[in-house]
Amino acid sequence: MTTTAPRDEQLWSRCAGCSSLLYRKRLRRNLDVCPECGTHSRLDAPARVAQLVDPDSFTALPDRAVEVDPIGFVDALPYPHRLTAARAATGLDEAVVCGTAAVGGHRIALAVMDFRFLGGSLGCAVGELITRTAERALAEEVPLVLITASGGARMQEGALSLMQMATVSQAVAGLREAGLLTISVITDPTYGGVAASFATNTDVVLAESGARLGFAGPRVIQQVTGAVLPEGFQTAEFLLRHGQVDMVVPRHALRGRLTALVAAARAGRRARQRPSVPRQQPAPRPPSPADAPLAATADGPGRDAWDTVRAARHPGRPTTMDYLESAFDGFVELHGDRLGADCPAIVGGLARLDGRPVMVIGHQKGHTTGELVARNFGMASPAGHRKALRLMRLAARLGLPVVTLVDTPGADPGVGAEEQGQAAAIAENILALSVLPTPVVAVVTGEGGSGGALALAVADRVLMLEHAVYSVISPEGCAAILWSDSSAAPQAARALRLTAPDLCQLGVVDEVVPEPAPAAHHDPAAAAELLARAVTANLAPLLDVPPATLVRRRRQRFRRYGAARADVPVVRR
Ligand SMILES: [Zn+2]
Repeated sequence: MTTTAPRDEQLWSRCAGCSSLLYRKRLRRNLDVCPECGTHSRLDAPARVAQLVDPDSFTALPDRAVEVDPIGFVDALPYPHRLTAARAATGLDEAVVCGTAAVGGHRIALAVMDFRFLGGSLGCAVGELITRTAERALAEEVPLVLITASGGARMQEGALSLMQMATVSQAVAGLREAGLLTISVITDPTYGGVAASFATNTDVVLAESGARLGFAGPRVIQQVTGAVLPEGFQTAEFLLRHGQVDMVVPRHALRGRLTALVAAARAGRRARQRPSVPRQQPAPRPPSPADAPLAATADGPGRDAWDTVRAARHPGRPTTMDYLESAFDGFVELHGDRLGADCPAIVGGLARLDGRPVMVIGHQKGHTTGELVARNFGMASPAGHRKALRLMRLAARLGLPVVTLVDTPGADPGVGAEEQGQAAAIAENILALSVLPTPVVAVVTGEGGSGGALALAVADRVLMLEHAVYSVISPEGCAAILWSDSSAAPQAARALRLTAPDLCQLGVVDEVVPEPAPAAHHDPAAAAELLARAVTANLAPLLDVPPATLVRRRRQRFRRYGAARADVPVVRR
């Protein structure tokens, strides 16, 4: 009987979440996620590698950790003794396992931290090994995936461990410059210097369900501030709400998510590297306003601008999310501005258009009052603009075209938005878009409301749905100022020349995308098809243009637009 206890310990384990006694083999088959309560138990690095990458695809880097004790650190025990003990207990040389592997058939460089080894702390050896992994990614031109689990910098190596934050970050920056995707996967727990460097300065940050991340740990915060911490503080869900991570991913979905991201980056890279030789069958040049008379797509004679305003605002009109589900495939939404918020009025992420990966960013309204309120009626906060900026820059680094869908009454005009720098956030987007080294196609799908619209609409090609409007100010706002009477909005709408044919004539818009009659909301599926066709046709001629030429042309375009304004009277009637 005395021999059964140890064997039982090996066969069974107790869930830290719900205390269920679980058969170990069953738990392992379930990726160490409790089948009863969903608690994700911590994985050591070898188990993580085995679960995450394609079978037999992992090859460890030849580089080995060097044992260092740079400051001769001693607490209760000399630091070298602790290192030796950690090595014996884990069978690892250091707190990270590094190598190359494949996920879903795509090659990656991978570093996986192991919390068992001195709390996954970041010392000189760990920093060096992760840096070499990043350098391997750069040399092989493959994405870098970092799985973090760490209490922070390794105190026992003093300031030198702090320097590792900079070393690894520089290596991440090198991958950015080379347009190679970097992904971190936050696992529980990730704190301190690791949280404040490569866990969060990668292109895409995933948090495993149940993971916690923070700079200071909860105990420290409570001690220092005396504050009562909110429920769920620093959990993956908390991080998502505050714009700190792109998504929360349950363990069983992790490989699939990584595969989708890596595949998109790879396709973008291939497209960018394709030599720009003339096509055998050149795609037809999209008609410019000069080629296509307004009558071909314009509102029928007698259609009033105010009717168009009402159609553009119709609650049944397809939203960005509707188009993402119909005109695009495989949307993977990315969240957060990395500064404290995730604005619901702007959605964005990777998707495929006609088989090609693109970054889609758009305003999101809704069809019901509840949806509209939850999305702030599509009025983006500074956080929304910063999220969009982050995604635009990511697309450029990955060589993916950007497609924006504009549908906003305007940027959020609230006190909070002002406090958080709404004007500067919009300005930054406009500037960034004007020099973004990747093709950008913007489509005004509903309301194109002033600066909030332009923050997504500085593009190589600007399209506009037939019954959309695009205006410097709302008709009501214009009426209130110039007519001193907001009921004069219909008159203001006519005066503002805000319809698609008007804007084509002014050279602001390149092409009108037809809608199914009488308007998009009567046949959303047909509207989506027309939109997909128009964007695809407008994107095609841009794909082979060198980024520098694209940027030069885009800047010329917007300079011309300024000049045109002087020649053409803004108000015709
Ligand atoms: Zn459980």
